[in-house]
Parts: sequence; C-alpha cells; structure tokens
Amino acid sequence: MEDRFGHHISYLRVSITDRCNERCEYCMPHEEQDWLPREDVLSYEEILRVIRVGASLGISKVRITGGEPLTRRNVLWFFQQLKTIEGISDIGISTNGTLLGRRDENGVTTAQSLKNAGVRTVNISLDTLDAKAYEKTTGRNLFNEVMAGIDAAREAEFESIKLNTVLMRHRNEHELWDLIEFSRERNLLLRFIELMPVSTTEVLTSDNFLSAGEAKKLIEFRLGELTPRPDMRTNGPSSYFEIPNTGQMIGFIGAMTNLHFCESCNKLRLTCEGKLRPCLGSHLEFDMREVLRNEAMTDSDIARFFLHVVERKPEMHEFRENYQPGRRMIAIGG
Ligand code: SAM
Ligand code: SF4
Repeated sequence: MEDRFGHHISYLRVSITDRCNERCEYCMPHEEQDWLPREDVLSYEEILRVIRVGASLGISKVRITGGEPLTRRNVLWFFQQLKTIEGISDIGISTNGTLLGRRDENGVTTAQSLKNAGVRTVNISLDTLDAKAYEKTTGRNLFNEVMAGIDAAREAEFESIKLNTVLMRHRNEHELWDLIEFSRERNLLLRFIELMPVSTTEVLTSDNFLSAGEAKKLIEFRLGELTPRPDMRTNGPSSYFEIPNTGQMIGFIGAMTNLHFCESCNKLRLTCEGKLRPCLGSHLEFDMREVLRNEAMTDSDIARFFLHVVERKPEMHEFRENYQPGRRMIAIGG
C-alpha cells in the first residue's frame, strides 16, 4: 500500500488494551481511569481478522502494544495465532517490562513464552535507573520487576531488545550516560524519545521538555562526539549514532524537533476499540469496528477500508501545531 505522499505502508501497530498496571505521568497521569467497557474493545478474533486482511495488502510487520499488552488475558494464545498469519514475518511487542519475568506454573517466564509464540523483537520502556525516580515517573514501585523482566528477555534471546527512554528535564537528563552504560553491558539498543502530546499535554511543558538535540549534546559533553549512522535503520523513525571508543549505537526519536520525522513513516495504527488511524499525531481515525461487526461486510470490504484509510494518511503529524490529544488517545498505543 502506498499513500499520496509516497509512504509505503507495511507496518501495523496494534493496541490490544487501554488498561495498564502503571500510571506514567506523560501517558496516564491520573490514578482513576475510565477504562473502556469490555464489549467496546475488539476481540482477539476481530484483531486477527484485521491483521489477516492487512497482510494480504502488504502488511508484514506487526507490533502489539497498549496500554500494557501483557495485562490482557490469554495474550500468549493471541500471539500464537498471530504467528500463523501468512505474510506476517515480523512480530514485536512494546511493554513496560514489569510482567516479562513472571513465571507460569512450569517456571517458564512470560518473556520465554512470548519468544516461543513467535515474538521476534521486544521494546521495553525504562526512563530511569533510580528506583525512586521510577516510582515517581510511573506511579508504581515496580523497578525490580522491570529489571527481572529485562533479565528474562535477555535469557529468552529475542532477535532484538530495545530500551525506550522518554526524555524529561529534571527527571533523567543526569542519567543519560548511565542508561547508555546499562544498555551497553546488556547488549540492548537504547533509544531516547522526545516527550510528545500523545495522550495528555499535562507534563509537556517547556520546563519538562528535553529535545533530542540537547540530550545528544549532554551525552557528547560526557562521552565525546557521536558519529551519525544514517545507514542504520530499524523499521522506525529513530536516527542512530555511534558512541566513540565503544562503538555502541544509540537512537533518538525526535518527533517534535526533527522536521524530516514523517518522511519514512510506514505505519498505520489500530486502536483497541477498532479505530484505524493513519497517523499518531493527527485526529483522523476511521471506525473499523463498525465494519467488523456488520455481518454483511466481507474481507474485501475490510480491504477497501484499509485502502481508504491509507489514502487519507497525512503528509506529517500535527504535534508541532499546538495539537491537543483526544480523550481516548490512551487506547492508541505509542
Ligand atoms: N505500556 C507499554 C510501554 O510502556 O512500553 C506500551 C504502550 S506505551 C504507550 C508505548 C511507548 O510510548 C512507551 O515507550 C512510552 O514511554 C511511550 N510514551 C507514552 N506516552 C508518551 C509521551 N507522552 N511522549 C513520548 N512517549 C510516550
Ligand atoms: Fe502504561 Fe506504557 Fe502508558 Fe506507562 S507508557 S502508563 S506503562 S501504557
């Protein structure tokens, strides 16, 4: 699928739940959340049907996200089914990592079960290495669980494990090199992400915002000049740089400051309540659930719906234009 601006669409990011066991201040800042009623959330069968049709149109990569995807019941069954869809060659998950180290009755970790179910890449969110700061950022005292989750993911030997760190001034700017060292020691690919108005604008203030450019300068001040590595691409919008002496790669995802950010976009997003969104930073969304739950609609109708959404994909996101997130943006998944 190709849109009006030459974006080749091959990647579907799927939120399977709006629920989460954490309360990150830039994502779900309030303890009380209005979760979606269960019947409004797509069933696994509905999601699998969408992915099957997407695969017939050229979607080859799927990343499962949320909310926290590992909080949804029977999620391993879902991944096992996903693996069997023809054309899907790359399955990933984005997780806060807190549940990856949990063991089933046979002592097998969730990370290992995900690997066995066909997951190739795992993105784990970690903004700080300080347990107190972790609790402040995520609203939960689960730092040790994330560490156990990272260990379990490493033991499971995924094809790649990435660490995603949201940049926040006064919160983690003094830890960037520690996070780099932590990742190097564990062979994890670290990416620094600029704060975006995804689900809330509450913490996105000029005081909290730390740009990728500034973070890069802080790192260079400490570790020496970073070498751009434009040749390194990982199916996403990250710009990669090499650290002197160690050769370690780190990435920056600068949605707010990189004006070329959207040029290589290859994604569509399916929200957990069945809205197909052509862009994370645009209010455009199209109700796939209505099509899925109308018995008269066939897979060809779903395919037409996909193409209609792709045709409406905007050239770039609106985050720099005083974008205000919608109320249920949380269900989109980052
Ligand atoms: N719960 C999982 C997790 O935390 O990785 C998956 C969903 S979460 C919404 C996906 C990613 O979006 C995480 O890496 C998170 O840090 C990032 N994210 C959430 N809100 C953000 C914001 N306002 N700005 C930048 N990144 C954000
Ligand atoms: Fe939950 Fe992930 Fe949002 Fe944090 S960023 S509240 S872990 S969904």
